[in-house]
Amino acid sequence: MTFDRRAFLGKTVTCACHLALAASVMPVAARKVWAAETLGHVVAREPFATLEKIADGVWAVISQPLNGDRTTLANGGLIAGKNAVLAVEGFNGPAGAEWLAAKSMELTGMRPTHVVLTHHHGDHANGVSGFQTNGAQCAVHATAMTRDIVVERDAKTPGALLARTTTLSAAVLLSNTEATRIDLGGRIVKIIPRGGHTQSDVTVELDDPSIVFCGDLVWNAMFPNYVDTTPSKFVGAVRGLKRAKDTLYVPGHGSLAKAREIDRYIAMLTEVEAGARKAFKAGVSAEEAGRTFMLSESLGPWALFSNVFYPRAFEAWYRELKA
Ligand SMILES: [Zn+2]
Repeated sequence: MTFDRRAFLGKTVTCACHLALAASVMPVAARKVWAAETLGHVVAREPFATLEKIADGVWAVISQPLNGDRTTLANGGLIAGKNAVLAVEGFNGPAGAEWLAAKSMELTGMRPTHVVLTHHHGDHANGVSGFQTNGAQCAVHATAMTRDIVVERDAKTPGALLARTTTLSAAVLLSNTEATRIDLGGRIVKIIPRGGHTQSDVTVELDDPSIVFCGDLVWNAMFPNYVDTTPSKFVGAVRGLKRAKDTLYVPGHGSLAKAREIDRYIAMLTEVEAGARKAFKAGVSAEEAGRTFMLSESLGPWALFSNVFYPRAFEAWYRELKA
């Protein structure tokens, strides 16, 4: 599929819009999926998120957006070294980033000195200026595409802030050892370009302890939004980020995950692909096929936040299959 920037910008919708809709229609049973027991140790609990310690010097923000408080909305986190602290994601609004910066000060004695945006969707990026409140210094890291789309689409994000963004490589590399590295002092963070959920995604990764901040390449127990997705790249990127060794995965939405949850997620994505290929071959429209599609019960519960999510996933597959 060729990338037409104007068309792309015109139809792009943030994850946030869909989660906002979800909060009003989500049944109680599905909400419980989100409140699943955590794998981390909760150090702060807010109406909009929990902050969970997942290793020495590493914390995950697990947002709880379904009560209507969208301060953070997306997941993210903090990674601390001896000299610097890196935040993952800019969150839905500056108040989310300001909250995390204050928590960073409490937990590490430092505000975040770096922030990485995993992709351009507003719930992950639009609050990034909150890390620079009152003149605080915090270097923004994003791919050029992520930066440009955030600047174009979010009037609230100061363009001057993003103009100073450190541009990450967007080229999908042959091996993880070629990733961008940030040295926080006794701790190296790797930023790996992958793509698939959008045209430009990155993951934020540690080798020891083995932790992957997945951005929206992974949604745990929740059906992902394919609005900007290239499905074959998406599934490939998810397979690519899964490690052979015991690893903790911080998804873009939903609770913390281990290999078992990633395997279930890949199986679910694979079933969607099979359903889309079958319907495409049979000449059924993406709309109709998506509306009648059901996931196997063996895949367990998946929160479906909007009735358009299955047709949208099928439409994304059809775009590729036609091309
Ligand atoms: Zn997203």
